[in-house]
Amino acid sequence: MSKRDYYEILGVDRSADESAIKSAYRKLAMKYHPDRNPGDKSAEDSFKEATEAYEILKEPQKRQAYDQYGHAGVGQGSGFSGGFGGGFEGFDLGDALRAFMRDFGGGGGGSVFDDFFGGGMGSSGGRRSRGEDLRIRVRLTLEEIESGVDKSVKVKRLVNCDSCAGSGVAAGSSRKTCGQCKGAGRVRTISRTFLGTVQQVQICNVCRGSGEVISDPCKSCHGEGRVRGSSTVHVNVPPGVSSGNYMTVDDMGNSAPNRGEAGDLIVVFEEEEHAHFTRHGDNVLCEVPISFVTAALGGEVEVPTLKGPEMVKIPTGTQNGKVVKMRGKGIPHLNRSGRGDQLVQVVVWVPTKLKEDEKKTLQKLKSSDSFDPPEGGKSFFEKLRETLGV
Ligand SMILES: [Zn+2]
Ligand SMILES: [Zn+2]
Repeated sequence: MSKRDYYEILGVDRSADESAIKSAYRKLAMKYHPDRNPGDKSAEDSFKEATEAYEILKEPQKRQAYDQYGHAGVGQGSGFSGGFGGGFEGFDLGDALRAFMRDFGGGGGGSVFDDFFGGGMGSSGGRRSRGEDLRIRVRLTLEEIESGVDKSVKVKRLVNCDSCAGSGVAAGSSRKTCGQCKGAGRVRTISRTFLGTVQQVQICNVCRGSGEVISDPCKSCHGEGRVRGSSTVHVNVPPGVSSGNYMTVDDMGNSAPNRGEAGDLIVVFEEEEHAHFTRHGDNVLCEVPISFVTAALGGEVEVPTLKGPEMVKIPTGTQNGKVVKMRGKGIPHLNRSGRGDQLVQVVVWVPTKLKEDEKKTLQKLKSSDSFDPPEGGKSFFEKLRETLGV
């Protein structure tokens, strides 16, 4: 998923002025606002997406940076790189709701308050907040990536309070509708200023938006409904993942305060360095030293693979640096069939200590024509002279 163009999101052209941008955003925000689409994740995403586009395009400086450099010019700078290229990291629903309320929630002609609540504040009920998403990194060996692996990871998170079953209410007591906002979670204040009457909508400060109050809070969680804890999460890692790929485990982020929906756990994979292999896409590369005798005569050598050692044939007359391909011995492709190869680079090793009789044998061979490097039939220096034209 890559980020959509901000102009395209708002459905305005690149020369649209500020008021056109504002009105385009207002329409989208009204359509996708979470209060109008409870529990609809795709509406929530559309709301966040439109708000993000609006936040950038309404600011002349940010808009200019975006026009010039695209999304890179206005990155959220979350410091979280990797597989989340298309996400709205650093810009969550809370930010989007605040931005929307800031520009459209207040009094005057821009207010959407009545559109939302139809004037009847008591009937709409408070919003239950969602628990925060959590991110963890899981390190994987190349072998685990090759085969796929089930990982159990312990995650520190806020869990539902046992004492009150997440309700935040002490035993024998119960939640009551907030008297301040009559359960709406928001209050409208009207103040007279020298500019005239100003209407403002704010999160209710008594119930903090939940629409309910607890007179006798649970002692263990102080009414939060959640406490510090941990959970063991099982992650079924498919073969072929790379560093920065991630999986989302539903509901394993923090539990929500006020009995809302738990956040998600985002598990980001990280590849460990390997003693023998370097990874290039789905191919794995390794170097294998062979003796110069094997290089000259050919033979079989043992090489490591991700599934254990295997014998590989070295052809007669193998030069140093030659790459032998072991087809299909690399990493399986993620999300499609087939797999990469293992590429073995041969390093011809020259002995550093020789016994007397070995030296004599080599001395005998030294004068043989077969031992002169050919360099295309000419010596290195001959070729060099030719190249330089001297
Ligand atoms: Zn309230
Ligand atoms: Zn509790």
